[in-house]
Amino acid sequence: MPYPNLTGDENAIVEMARDFSRKRLAPYALEWDATKHFPVAEMKEAGSLGMAAIYTREDVGGSGLRRLDGVRIFEELAKGDPVTAAFISIHNMCTWMVDTYGSQEQREEWIPKLAPMDVMASYCLTEPGAGSDAASLSTKAERDGDDFVLNGTKQFISGGGASDLYVVMARSEGEGARGISTFLVDKGTPVSPSGRPR
Ligand SMILES: Cc1cc2nc3c(=O)[nH]c(=O)nc-3n(C[C@H](O)[C@H](O)[C@H](O)COP(=O)(O)OP(=O)(O)OC[C@H]3O[C@@H](n4cnc5c(N)ncnc54)[C@H](O)[C@@H]3O)c2cc1C
Repeated sequence: MPYPNLTGDENAIVEMARDFSRKRLAPYALEWDATKHFPVAEMKEAGSLGMAAIYTREDVGGSGLRRLDGVRIFEELAKGDPVTAAFISIHNMCTWMVDTYGSQEQREEWIPKLAPMDVMASYCLTEPGAGSDAASLSTKAERDGDDFVLNGTKQFISGGGASDLYVVMARSEGEGARGISTFLVDKGTPVSPSGRPR
């Protein structure tokens, strides 16, 4: 049933998400939970419907909608499977960060792959000693020629191990929030023999 306070387009977006959630998530959610299954195929299907780059600009393949549309979509997805809805919302957050703060080169390289979820992204902020107080994080980013070496520990990373791209917050400068930079770390990034990523 359409919401009376929404426009025709807004209702169409909600109905698309609701239909997907009812048919492709809800019937399987309990089984996925019990078997610890990460439903990659269904998430890519959500991506093909425009739900993986909801509030990302259209010139690089985003859906060009608003965050409010995202809230309504996530609400519908969560009715079917809150776990999958949560990961899709995190992937959207990563995609938005690349769109908003990345260079044009990064936008053109990553968003066409993130939007259909051909590349899945994880958001890596939390550490064993830095949760709510994220500005106290201690993962270090040190320059090594043209590269940065990241060294530290992250925890509670949704999609960790399964994702292809890691949006990593690390300390490149001094204390506090202003000393933190964000790095796009490809899953294939080599780790140095000492265990340090290079
Ligand atoms: C299902 C799930 C998925 C997650 N996915 C991700 C992810 O993809 N990427 C990522 O980076 N992180 C992720 N997280 C981590 C999440 O962001 C952190 O759990 C959150 O920031 C809280 O940090 P913490 O667990 O260390 O708790 P703490 O910060 O240690 O907080 C513990 C308790 O103390 C309270 N508290 C903290 N500070 C104060 C204060 N100043 N005053 C009063 N009370 C306070 C909190 O409200 C909480 O009740 C995920 C967590 C969960 C549960």
